[in-house]
Amino acid sequence: MSKDGRHHFVIVGGGLAGSLLAVYLGRKGYRVDVYEMRDDIRGGNVAGGKSINLALTRRGIDALAHAGLAEQVLASAVPMKGRLIHSESGDTSLQPYGKDDTQLNYSVSRAGLNAELLEAADSHESVTLHFNKKCTGVDLDEPSVTLADTVTGVEVRVEADVIVSADGAFSAVRARMQKLARFNYSQQYLEHGYKELEIPPGVAGEFQIEKNALHIWPRRSYMMIALPNLDGSFTCTLFWPFDGPFSFDNLESEEDVRRFFEEHFADAVPVMPTLTADYLGNPTNPLATICCGPWHYQDKVVLLGDACHAVVPFYGQGMNAAFEDVLVLDACMDKHKSDFGAAFAAYYSERKEHVDVLQRLCVDNFVEMRDHTGSKWFLLRKKTEKMLSKIFPSWYVPLYNMVTHTRIRYVDAVRRARMQKQVCALVAGFLVIAVFLLLFT
Ligand SMILES: Cc1cc2nc3c(=O)[nH]c(=O)nc-3n(C[C@H](O)[C@H](O)[C@H](O)COP(=O)(O)OP(=O)(O)OC[C@H]3O[C@@H](n4cnc5c(N)ncnc54)[C@H](O)[C@@H]3O)c2cc1C
Repeated sequence: MSKDGRHHFVIVGGGLAGSLLAVYLGRKGYRVDVYEMRDDIRGGNVAGGKSINLALTRRGIDALAHAGLAEQVLASAVPMKGRLIHSESGDTSLQPYGKDDTQLNYSVSRAGLNAELLEAADSHESVTLHFNKKCTGVDLDEPSVTLADTVTGVEVRVEADVIVSADGAFSAVRARMQKLARFNYSQQYLEHGYKELEIPPGVAGEFQIEKNALHIWPRRSYMMIALPNLDGSFTCTLFWPFDGPFSFDNLESEEDVRRFFEEHFADAVPVMPTLTADYLGNPTNPLATICCGPWHYQDKVVLLGDACHAVVPFYGQGMNAAFEDVLVLDACMDKHKSDFGAAFAAYYSERKEHVDVLQRLCVDNFVEMRDHTGSKWFLLRKKTEKMLSKIFPSWYVPLYNMVTHTRIRYVDAVRRARMQKQVCALVAGFLVIAVFLLLFT
């Protein structure tokens, strides 16, 4: 505890979840120190490594709203009405996300959002941000962290009442917890990786393809997507296997790259002037699902966001779920006051089964996006879902909409979608039998 009697929290990782939690804890009056291994992105020092932009949806918006930040974040986001599908022949079709224009997803800049959250955290007198400080060691029982200055190399040890691990998928804090007896951990890589490319703004700064949509070029075993940025550009992401006869491994020269894109993404090539340089210069990154538990050690250490449940990005839920963690953790701390052990246990038991289900949904949605969004059956299913949700708005809500546009817990959303499907199958069965009886009896 601090000299002034306040509990002291150390947050390892000043990324999306860590900086939002710092805002929440700062509001509660706790003494908070955030240690981030990268430079302060508010100075424009944006390190690469992850997607440039992200889809922000209901769960994330609610968590921001609770901290009074939703309005300002949405003011610099690009609303997306639906998926805009690009077929191989160059035809396009829009598949709206919701039953009307009130159900939108928002494309936000990762760095811009992170900077806003850091700024909001910094505005609390009890929160101090430290940059270029990498956590290199953790003592769970003390509890304390060892931090190495990434510029000078000097190491310091910092004690705290609680250590929060918000240091992402390759968390140093979680790595220490993995050494505990009965700590479960699994990590599953996809055979696909991803590479970011760009569609820049037009000469007058205009969007060169539809602004208010998430663009998808589904090509069965692989796909490219593009999300809009406020400056008129799009960040494109190609998801493709790392190796094999038809994979990232295969394109080596500028000519290979151009030929591949002209063959499979022909309508995108004219608006991608830096395609070959981007392709050959940008890294190919892996995608992993990380699953672990328990997410806390006594009342001393707690895990948050990707550090405890990294997902593959195909439902656009990783950050949204991490922000929802913050909401749930905050509610558990309100309920259990300074009994942090009880609060962390309640947070873990509240969240765990839901993010486990989310992990499966994210992998399944990859198959849906790349294999099905271009098919006529998929379109028919989407139209039927839309019709049902218009006729029975309080009963039928498509799974995608429950996940992205509501706070229905992930497990409950999946159960409800299964029940809706069974009722629809039953009704369809009865209709077929009724028609058969009418025609043939
Ligand atoms: C290609 C791609 C696209 C995505 N698209 C979406 C999307 O559209 N919508 C969505 O909701 N989610 C999306 N996600 C997922 C989202 O990026 C993550 O779920 C989110 O960033 C998790 O936030 P976090 O704060 O837990 O982790 P991170 O954002 O990874 O932040 C961790 C922070 O900890 C710091 N750190 C790491 N190690 C240490 C250390 N040892 N010491 C100190 N600091 C450390 C890092 O520098 C970083 O700042 C996407 C992910 C990828 C890869």
